Amino acid sequence: MSQAQSSSANSADQLQRFSFDNTDIRGEITHLNASYRAVMTRHQYPKVIAVELGQLMAATALLSASLKFAGRLTLQVRLPGNVSLLQAETSDKGELRAIARYDAGLAEQELSFDNGQLVITIEPEQGQKYQGITAIDGGNIAAAMENYFEQSEQLASRFWLECDGDNAAGFMLQKMPAMDSSDADAWNRLTQLADTIKPEELLLLNNEVLLHRLYHDEAIRIYQPSELKFFCTCSKARLATALTQLGYDELDDILKQSGKIDVSCEFCQQHYSFDRPQVDALFPQRNPH
Ligand SMILES: [Zn+2]
Repeated sequence: MSQAQSSSANSADQLQRFSFDNTDIRGEITHLNASYRAVMTRHQYPKVIAVELGQLMAATALLSASLKFAGRLTLQVRLPGNVSLLQAETSDKGELRAIARYDAGLAEQELSFDNGQLVITIEPEQGQKYQGITAIDGGNIAAAMENYFEQSEQLASRFWLECDGDNAAGFMLQKMPAMDSSDADAWNRLTQLADTIKPEELLLLNNEVLLHRLYHDEAIRIYQPSELKFFCTCSKARLATALTQLGYDELDDILKQSGKIDVSCEFCQQHYSFDRPQVDALFPQRNPH
């Protein structure tokens, strides 16, 4: 990687890992620019939802490095109020997508995180699905992530998540378990320094500048970044599978009324159309010929 590329690091959608020598502490920084805007251009979310969804996408990107196998990781914030769901997904290839469900009347109220749940689902392409659920009691997405790691993984973790409605960024520090550390005070010192990050610094500074500003007295090791991008996994075949859940009679009614069935992917708004022969083909038992 050339110097010019690395100095403009935060214009790219990427995840970058770092670690501190002689400690058991590692960290990650993510920037979501084009991938965040790809989600926002497909939906007209109220600002409060757009900002929270950006933070959730950043949290998801930070967790994507933990996918060591082919598969998907989904983060959901489930809430009892007007905003019922914030969801962001990533794959081992760094592909991101996100969606929110909310009452149209919500407008621009404050979003409450009381009595919610944070749900982390990991779906390997091969093998067992894993799901972890942690209660959310106030706070924000970063606090919910920290609780999740404390309770489910017994890992001390800190998250700093920012979104200004145009870009999203995340910063994470994590203390790895059961490693000998010659620097007992490191966790307090490194997290206190990270607490001084201003939102605009996390959003706008490139990683090396930010890490130097925070940790110029530390022996820090910065690894090659990996790319992130918006990508939707929808396909006509997947939408067809979803349509069959409605049952033949309901699809038949729609076909009688309008001659075709129009559906859009709720994530990316890609449009798919099914005519009668295509619907009939979904129910082979009904059409033995
Ligand atoms: Zn889609």
